[in-house]
Amino acid sequence: MAKKKENNEVCSFCGRPMPNMFSGMDGSLICCECIEAGHMLVAKMPKKTDKDDTFANEPLPTPRAIKEFLDQYVIGQETAKRFLSVAVYNHYKRVLQSADEDGVEIEKSNILLVGSTGTGKTLLARTIAKMLKVPFAIVDATALTQAGYVGEDVESLLVRLLQDADYDLIKAQRGIVFIDEIDKIARKSENPSITRDVSGEGVQQGLLKLLEGSIVNVPPQGGRKHPEQEFIHVDTKNILFICGGAFDGIERKIAQRMNTQVVGFDAQHKAAKLDKDNLLQYVAPQDLKSFGLIPEIIGRLPVLTYLEPLDKVALRNILTEPKNALVKQYAKLLKMDNVALSFEPEMLDYIVDKAFENKLGARGLRGLMEMVMTDLMFEMPDNKDANAAHAFTVTKQYAMEKIEKADLHQLQQAL
Ligand code: ADP
Repeated sequence: MAKKKENNEVCSFCGRPMPNMFSGMDGSLICCECIEAGHMLVAKMPKKTDKDDTFANEPLPTPRAIKEFLDQYVIGQETAKRFLSVAVYNHYKRVLQSADEDGVEIEKSNILLVGSTGTGKTLLARTIAKMLKVPFAIVDATALTQAGYVGEDVESLLVRLLQDADYDLIKAQRGIVFIDEIDKIARKSENPSITRDVSGEGVQQGLLKLLEGSIVNVPPQGGRKHPEQEFIHVDTKNILFICGGAFDGIERKIAQRMNTQVVGFDAQHKAAKLDKDNLLQYVAPQDLKSFGLIPEIIGRLPVLTYLEPLDKVALRNILTEPKNALVKQYAKLLKMDNVALSFEPEMLDYIVDKAFENKLGARGLRGLMEMVMTDLMFEMPDNKDANAAHAFTVTKQYAMEKIEKADLHQLQQAL
């Protein structure tokens, strides 16, 4: 490339006569300002890199390896973990399959998790995304409305995924979207209504095309679509959708289907074999239909599994066992203040009892622990002696003093 400067020559890009221009093989010229502007433009463009793309560089973990990873963060929920591990493995095998000629097309394995709030549905989905290092977005189905109505367009849920992928489209298109509270967009009755059901069936219809895989126009900044806006075309074919919902009351539908009743005297011999305290384990697609999901949506969520209610043992384990268990987090925080923190086992039992009695679930554990720990975390940093580490044990007595003063009802409301 030769440097040229002649009086009557202009930049082929901006058309201005400029000093210090570069010429191309065909004699066209470019000025330094245009080079700089071009450079800035390129620097802003999303980069297509394979460098941290799990799929390009690492072998796909097997279902067993996926489950073992989940075990480090999520307590119990054996059935859900197994279903999820297989579904996720199959999903990414499908993503990686080369377009071969045998004509066998592996279908998408979107997942539906049914279980009470706070039993680990979001945690499972988030942990899988963490393991696979794929972009992850959580959206609340109740925030979505049918196009043209007040609220978020269904497509906007892909904006979050794009944001999490730093607008790298290739990565986003292999991400995971967790749609929470899918049960809240169930239609009110099983029969299709004549009147419009803005927040229910309309949204389900909107979700359909995302779940099955299609090219969706996504407004890059989210919000409402405007005709003059430029869209990002996102292909949802390889995005894994995991939906979750509590489906309050679905037990009744399950019981009806199984020709028994939650409380009843008929079909006793049949009912005896059923675990009536946990009917969710028998959840089947027909129950979802009775609950108000449209058959098309149910068909797009072929992997259906459930989460167990958390008993006291599970709550106790949640406090101490996971890799980032609460007690480990507090110990780490206070270690930075030179305090070796420990908890009396009876104190942990007490917290579990309080969470259980007040129906605060796993989510409430955090709130209860904060009530106990806040004063300590306020005081400790001033008491620290740079040379001498000291030990502190949180006793049951100490916890009781803090919690009995607190308003658990407020905590219950906040969850
Ligand atoms: P859901 O999505 O079912 O409503 P989450 O996954 O959001 O519930 O759980 C809320 C919090 O409770 C999680 O962040 C986690 O700290 C804790 N938790 C719930 N279930 C479990 C579990 N099975 N194992 C470990 N932690 C759990």
